[in-house]
Amino acid sequence: MNVLILNLGSSSLKFQVIATDLARIKQYQDDRLCRGEVEGIGGEAIIRFKYRDQQAKTLTAPLSDISATLDYLVKHIASEQSGVVEIKKTADIQAVGHRVVHGGEMFKESALIDDRVLKEIENCIDLAPLHNPNNIKGILAAKALLGDIPQVAVFDTSFHHSIPEQAFLYAIPYHLYRRHRIRRYGFHGTSHRYVAFRYRTLRGLTREQTNIITLHLGNGCSASAIKAGRSVDTSMGMTPLEGLVMGTRCGDVDPAIVGVIARKEGLSSSEVDALLNTQSGLLGISGLTNDMRELQSELKEHEDRRVRLAIEIFCYRARKYIGGFLASMGGADAIVFTGGIGENSPDIRARICAGMEWAGLRVDPAKNQATAGREGPISTDDSSLQAYAIPTDEELLIARDTVRVIEGEPHPS
Ligand code: ADP
Repeated sequence: MNVLILNLGSSSLKFQVIATDLARIKQYQDDRLCRGEVEGIGGEAIIRFKYRDQQAKTLTAPLSDISATLDYLVKHIASEQSGVVEIKKTADIQAVGHRVVHGGEMFKESALIDDRVLKEIENCIDLAPLHNPNNIKGILAAKALLGDIPQVAVFDTSFHHSIPEQAFLYAIPYHLYRRHRIRRYGFHGTSHRYVAFRYRTLRGLTREQTNIITLHLGNGCSASAIKAGRSVDTSMGMTPLEGLVMGTRCGDVDPAIVGVIARKEGLSSSEVDALLNTQSGLLGISGLTNDMRELQSELKEHEDRRVRLAIEIFCYRARKYIGGFLASMGGADAIVFTGGIGENSPDIRARICAGMEWAGLRVDPAKNQATAGREGPISTDDSSLQAYAIPTDEELLIARDTVRVIEGEPHPS
């Protein structure tokens, strides 16, 4: 089954086509045909497109909206010019898997999209006003373009459904949870779930034997406490703003700060919201960039106090969460790093793990260096708390969930 995977941001789209089915999933024989992203939807868009391991091509086209983008993309994939010999016509795409950011309290697992599911995704719009509307547009555009082929929604929030009340409720008046569903939902669930699956596969463990803390460190960052294979706590909250320091998001702050900033800076609450989401984190502290790699190379060239602080605060916050989760879950067997930073930066991994010998964790510098962008252990063999780096692959999990939901396989993992 050729599955088109769509991951829609506010003005960008990441896509892949993966050929897979139940037999291929079992044998790890999923076949990634093409991948890429579209940036600048709504104007002159830039499309990066890669067929298998061939060199990526960059194209440009005026793409007014999501519908036009999808139309362009599917036509391109089916054209001779794309090089995707497996797909010669639109009908060669047999299913669509969507990353949907917010599934609220409704979706405990991935769902075949029908009118009822679509309505429920709409009901979650107030929980994710920037994301869910675009996900819905993507679903409707795919239906208009590809007809009645099965479409599956894979939610960022689903994996965290197992978090107990004591960890998902905020200590605010209980009626606010009842009335407005204000609680911790957590995000990046597909990534945490995928690396937990890879970790237990690498170590030959069952789901029940999997007790780990996963750290997804990309532009967005979150930590997840996984006990007996299930998420029992996570750092992101009702929105993806809470928790770790991120590229442009502040993570944890004293909630009273919001009112103070509004008063002192003469900003509305939505302006403060934007400031905490888009002007904070690594960018806010350094005053330079949200990009960790740039911060690191800046620091190599010359001492910059704010750049150093940005990196230190980022790593300190991550370590603090590891400590908190170790205590709340009664210890863990490993910490797993993933996401652009977690996968590729031995330096940040070492900084986060520094001084954690008390917990039985000692990073092996040679293994840590050798595991940039690859999967494997980065701690010494005798560490009682191991550390791993595992590249995430949310798209693969979305493709697999899509197939499993369509084929009626219960509780895909
Ligand atoms: P997103 O969350 O948008 O998917 P990514 O997971 O791609 O983002 O992560 C982007 C972050 O990863 C950026 O801060 C980038 O600088 C960082 N990154 C990527 N490669 C490296 C590297 N080799 N060293 C340090 N940071 C890196």
